[in-house]
Amino acid sequence: MNLSQIINDKSKQYQDYTANNLSELIKIKSLSTKEGAVVKKLKEMMADAGFDEIKIDGLGNIIGRLGSGKKIIAIDGHIDTVDIGNIQNWTFDPLGGEIKNGFIHGRGSVDQKGGPIAAITATKILREIGLPKDVTLYVTGTVIEEDCDGLCWKYIIEEDKIKPDCVIVTEPTNLNIYRGHRGRMEIEVSFFGRSAHGSAPERGINAIYMASKATLGIEKLNERLAYDEFLGKGSVTISEFVSGSPSLCAVADFAKIHLDRRLTWGENKDLAVKEVEEIVKDMNAKVEVINYNEKAYTGKEYGMEKYYPTWKLEENHPVVEKGKMVFKELFNKDAVVDKWTFSTNGIAINGMYGIPVIGFGPGNEVLAHAPDEKVPIEHLVKASSFYAMFVMNY
Ligand SMILES: [Zn+2]
Repeated sequence: MNLSQIINDKSKQYQDYTANNLSELIKIKSLSTKEGAVVKKLKEMMADAGFDEIKIDGLGNIIGRLGSGKKIIAIDGHIDTVDIGNIQNWTFDPLGGEIKNGFIHGRGSVDQKGGPIAAITATKILREIGLPKDVTLYVTGTVIEEDCDGLCWKYIIEEDKIKPDCVIVTEPTNLNIYRGHRGRMEIEVSFFGRSAHGSAPERGINAIYMASKATLGIEKLNERLAYDEFLGKGSVTISEFVSGSPSLCAVADFAKIHLDRRLTWGENKDLAVKEVEEIVKDMNAKVEVINYNEKAYTGKEYGMEKYYPTWKLEENHPVVEKGKMVFKELFNKDAVVDKWTFSTNGIAINGMYGIPVIGFGPGNEVLAHAPDEKVPIEHLVKASSFYAMFVMNY
């Protein structure tokens, strides 16, 4: 039997083990900054799968290690989820973890507890067939991704001092191979006017009028942003508009808009800030990239600026090629190579630190953050095979 057959057989053999692990994990609610209980459960699962070392870092990321060779590969999955939303939109219990008709049901099944669970099964398989001596494998269950993607990996690289040679991000790809996505940033623009009695508006400067003019400029800006063949167009929209006034009978002296900016290839923070500054240059306004400052479940405060750089690997990058080769050997067909619509930890791993990343994960990304989220067990089995085979061939 060749290696791909051995690995496929073992993944299949461990199908129920994988499905049950995911079901258990879905039953534990784990919103961003509240992942403590799910990390505890993962620690038990990692111990059972036979990792050589399991560590929980200061931010609360759980990091399992197998082997201690020179070549370092990490398989990453975030283990926080978004909330369930309106329960009326679900036809099953979002925290039930029900296994039925070939699917595992519940919040986080697709986005994205399925990925790290499949990586744990892959590690169990690698332990049995023997990890190559020159390889160190890390499986990372990372925190706070939904609130601030990449923060967890900034911590792993800068504080834990782990710098892999390549990373597989296990966010849902429908078993395609992804090689990038647009970056993003959150910008706030504050407008400062001067209040006056509402009966005499000519005595004041209305901050709402100022901000309103700026919003029209931003609408136009969206139309002329850059386009990239692979990643698509950069975009900007206004997600919030607030204002302040000393009274409802006064000229408003304050307004603020919040921008959601998506950055395509070639766009970065400096460029995006300058574009907005140009629009408000004749106004009493301040443009700022805001910070993420929430405390982790461990109590650690470790913020970062809400700038999430664009990243992509070229189609012929060796890591992408390796992924395609592994896929073909395992499943006897060509992989589809594409990109994510949303943002992932790739913004830090590749966008900030230049470490090659590919995406490969179970589940369909259209179910991420949506009601009736569920993942096919077949995807979990194939993802386990892919991770094990990739590590064996790296
Ligand atoms: Zn996700």
